[in-house]
Amino acid sequence: MAQAGFVPPRRRQNQVFSALLLIFLILSSVYYMTAPERSEDEKLATAKKVPISEITHGYKQKTFDNIMVRGSNVYAKYQSGSYVQSYKEFGDSITTLGWNDPANPTVVKVDNIEVKNFFKAHLGDFIFLILLIAIGMWVFRSLARSQSSAMSFGKSKARIADAKDVKTTFKDVAGCDEAKNDLKEIVDFLKNPKKYTTIGAKIPRGALLVGAPGTGKTLLARAVAGEAGVPFFSISGSEFVEMFVGVGASRVRDLFLRAKRNAPCIIFIDEIDAVGRQRGGAGFGGGHDEREQTLNQILTEMDGFDKDTNVIVMAATNRPDVLDTALLRPGRFDRRVFIDKPDLLARKQILEVHARNKKMAKDCDLEVIAKQTVGMAGADLENIMNEAAISAARRGAKSVQQEDLVEAVEKVTLGAQKRSRKLSDKEKSITAYHEVGHAIVGHLCKESDPLHKISMVSRGFALGVTWFLPKEDQYTTTKQKFLDEICGLLGGRAAEQLVFNEITTGASNDIEKASAIARNMATRYGMDEELGIVAYGERQGSAYLGTDLGMSRNYSEDIAKKIDDFTKRIIDKEYERAKDHLQANRQKLDQLVAKLLEIETMSFEEFLEIFEGKEKAKKELKEAKERQSAK
Ligand code: ADP
Ligand code: MG
Ligand code: ZN
Repeated sequence: MAQAGFVPPRRRQNQVFSALLLIFLILSSVYYMTAPERSEDEKLATAKKVPISEITHGYKQKTFDNIMVRGSNVYAKYQSGSYVQSYKEFGDSITTLGWNDPANPTVVKVDNIEVKNFFKAHLGDFIFLILLIAIGMWVFRSLARSQSSAMSFGKSKARIADAKDVKTTFKDVAGCDEAKNDLKEIVDFLKNPKKYTTIGAKIPRGALLVGAPGTGKTLLARAVAGEAGVPFFSISGSEFVEMFVGVGASRVRDLFLRAKRNAPCIIFIDEIDAVGRQRGGAGFGGGHDEREQTLNQILTEMDGFDKDTNVIVMAATNRPDVLDTALLRPGRFDRRVFIDKPDLLARKQILEVHARNKKMAKDCDLEVIAKQTVGMAGADLENIMNEAAISAARRGAKSVQQEDLVEAVEKVTLGAQKRSRKLSDKEKSITAYHEVGHAIVGHLCKESDPLHKISMVSRGFALGVTWFLPKEDQYTTTKQKFLDEICGLLGGRAAEQLVFNEITTGASNDIEKASAIARNMATRYGMDEELGIVAYGERQGSAYLGTDLGMSRNYSEDIAKKIDDFTKRIIDKEYERAKDHLQANRQKLDQLVAKLLEIETMSFEEFLEIFEGKEKAKKELKEAKERQSAK
């Protein structure tokens, strides 16, 4: 999340310093150029020392403008204005020098004012310098202050919302029911901490909201504060990064201190990936000190909470993959809440939420709009409603009409398309067949993990997702389970080929995974008779030190070919098996796809109802539940 125009704090500091230096140089040269003659005092102090005889000679030759005695020093001034000074001190014996030629008009002035020393002679310059430094420091300080003012809590632009100011509640967040359910627990922790602490339960410290941009992470975090009725301290990770060295860490300290004083409350760190990236990523000694210090401070603060401090730290990111693993350890952001892009129903609900405060014509059909906005996030939908209202107002209409909404969809789609791809009908259909293919094959392969959910709503790069939940923690895996897994992975591609007789790139990830499993069966688990029970390949580097370089080959060409043959044989066989399963259930496949295209996400129950009929589905679900509770 690097910011455009972002300058690391060190360099920024240097920039300020060099700017100040430049100002100083300019000012001082201006001073010296415009200053009148060097002061007499200075000239006297720096006068060249000569033997007294030279001065006497000069006196006689009348080369001096004047001669004067100050203290015990004798100074002679040339007509040019420069001075010389006698080596020895002659002050008292001046009269013995015999400068009494009445014809010589040189004035011999005797006064007893001491010549100022060098420091005194330069006093003016010193004062000027000190003044300059003072001004410089003042400029520097106020610069520094303006840099960090976004972060100074309390004193300036604090982003603290008092309990009574957080009006957002779960009602304002449509859809994302799973996320809301997860977060209800946190609301309860904040409201009734005693309930948990008396039993001895440790209150969780942090929750990480993970989801694509605009899916409502910030909104949800505020809603948690609103539901619990607690203050909400918020800060964005990118703000930490732009600070001067050391400021980030001290701000974190401030933030947590204030939060603890205001407990119960929520600290929300938006875009935490900006500070929470994997540390030491940029090689040894490289990296980003300031960011690291800030991150370390966050971790220290979270670890340092007392057991009964009721402060919950929430953070949001759309890049969970780059986060430092230290952040995810127990006692830190150990709860992860995933926020998916909204499906059809959720999109309709989100549109309804944002229709609440607008005058809508009776004929508006938000469902139609929801259908047209596959892949859009909550922020896009809010944008659509707003654009529609604007266009209605521009027309001079009293309320938002359906045509305004349709127009707004087009407008926002153009913008949203760059971020999240909107699928064409053909693509949608292929995606649906692909995902249902996974689901059916996975379901029919008995060793495969049970199906959880099918979704066509894109999250990240994949167009669709089919989730299988592991049955139980498994420490060993049988050969059949590996085969079933491969079969399920190939189900997507098999369905595409069966229905469209066409091959797309959508299955590349599946193929990669399936091949890796097959290869491991041969090289690590000794599951091929011909290759025998031998481990092939050697792990390079140390996974622990993060220098994992993958596997190196320590076997012959001959073995390599056998491994490749085995892998291909397994993949081919499982691909055929997947196709057979699908061919045998062609009608169900079509039915499921039709339904999925309609509702976009399909639960396991909905899948079973279509695949096995209502009655049988009920029975099977009951059995599954019993199995679960028996555990
Ligand atoms: P994120 O933090 O995930 O990028 P935001 O919370 O900033 O997203 O969402 C931006 C805006 O989009 C919100 O202020 C809200 O108006 C709208 N929005 C997003 N998701 C939803 C939702 N589920 N329900 C209602 N509005 C939403
Ligand atoms: Mg946000
Ligand atoms: Zn797939």
